Amino acid sequence: MNGLSSTPHTTVLQSALRGIACRCPRCGHGKLFAGFLTLRPQCESCGLDYAFIDAGDGPAIFVIMLAGAVVVTCALIVEVKYQPPFWVHAALWLPLILATTLLPLRSMKALLIALQFHHKAAEGRLIERAPK
Ligand SMILES: [Zn+2]
Repeated sequence: MNGLSSTPHTTVLQSALRGIACRCPRCGHGKLFAGFLTLRPQCESCGLDYAFIDAGDGPAIFVIMLAGAVVVTCALIVEVKYQPPFWVHAALWLPLILATTLLPLRSMKALLIALQFHHKAAEGRLIERAPK
């Protein structure tokens, strides 16, 4: 048992919603995180061992792409329409950068974990062949 066995009738949407809510990908009740991005060792509700989780840099990449598109679009619109001094840009975009990167990061990590669990994604392994 590698911890990736899911409940039999979980749809992708249910798994994604569990992820966005930062809940256990198997039962949907236990909390996933112990800190801001630190995972608990296992689910407090169903006992799922979270050792299989490997989100890597995936959440950061998606958040950077999303935040970059939002902030650059807003900055370009404000610059073209109002041409404010640079301190106005700093005052506007630094808080927006923090908000658009830090706020969705936790849910994005949990979403990718839930999808990893749903699709039973894991590192590839070589299959030993029987000798001829
Ligand atoms: Zn659970």
